[in-house]
Amino acid sequence: MIRIASLLLLLIISNVNIRAQVSNPRSQKTAKNIILLIGDGMGVSQIYAAMSVSSKTLNLEQFKVIGFHKTYSANDYITDSGAGGTALSTGVKTCNNCIATDTLGNPLKTILEIAEKNNKATGLISTSSILHATPASFIAHVKSRNNLEDIATWFLKTDIDLFIGGGRKQFICRKDGLNLFDSLLERGYFITDSLHKIQNNKSAKYAVITAYEHNPKYSEGRGDLLPDAAEKAIQILSEKENGFFLMIEGSQIDWGGHDNDINYVVTETIDFDKAIGKALEFAKKDGETLVIVTADHETGGLTLVDGNTDKKITAKFSTDNHTGVMVPVFVYGPGAENFGGIYQNTEVFNKMMDAFGF
Ligand code: MG
Ligand code: ZN
Repeated sequence: MIRIASLLLLLIISNVNIRAQVSNPRSQKTAKNIILLIGDGMGVSQIYAAMSVSSKTLNLEQFKVIGFHKTYSANDYITDSGAGGTALSTGVKTCNNCIATDTLGNPLKTILEIAEKNNKATGLISTSSILHATPASFIAHVKSRNNLEDIATWFLKTDIDLFIGGGRKQFICRKDGLNLFDSLLERGYFITDSLHKIQNNKSAKYAVITAYEHNPKYSEGRGDLLPDAAEKAIQILSEKENGFFLMIEGSQIDWGGHDNDINYVVTETIDFDKAIGKALEFAKKDGETLVIVTADHETGGLTLVDGNTDKKITAKFSTDNHTGVMVPVFVYGPGAENFGGIYQNTEVFNKMMDAFGF
């Protein structure tokens, strides 16, 4: 009896081993660097609208590996950018409005924090405030995305190497009277309001706060801030020897969707695509960089109801809010093949962890 039982146990154990090997093949190629680009509110229609009116072929058309992810949150078929960002940054579905916390408010480790722990350099870039839900999901742990002053304090609780975006107000004009720029200076950050004022210094960390609140629209003077920031950040982070994690957000594609303004959607998507071009350009030369382009959700229920080859489109929106449709994922670099298929938004985090070999 005992012999049969131990034989059975042996069989079970060996079976588990075999299954572990089959279902969990260790990715052969790991990535030294990951650049995650999030087009907030960027569904397939937003991309095709930009492709249709752009005078140049979009960089997005270069990708060969494409997947889709399901965006719903823990408490809503329609996610917001807090829960959407948290799914991508932590691999956990949470309630709308939560920033890297679970549904009970417990903090969740983010890919940026895990990269830091593993001695990688890290960075965040946004065309909104750097404290807005999407970038905040990678660095802060708060139950409400609206608590911007609390979110700002989290920039002092990690060793993030570089961040570029708006949000000066909550760093220096705070209800608690604290001046977080002073605290950042003490921690060795070079603080500036412009990319052009960055003085390269290998040991420095950079806080480039480009607006009091949000950056302006592309069409209202933002210029090439996003692609320029992407290029500068990649240059700085790639000088660190252990590799890096960088998140770049095209924030205002979403706002064009909320406004039901097709020109706003298209100019922001084309601008975001230029940043994608900077990431791809580096990744192709580097060979050890994984580039992932995705969205947190679609915004506006955008439909293209007419168009022609003279770069004219007729667009309709079905809502001024987010929608529930799955959104695309475009991937290039070592481990890219693992991103094909249809999966949960949380899988993007797991696939990034695998790609880093964590
Ligand atoms: Mg956002
Ligand atoms: Zn939105």
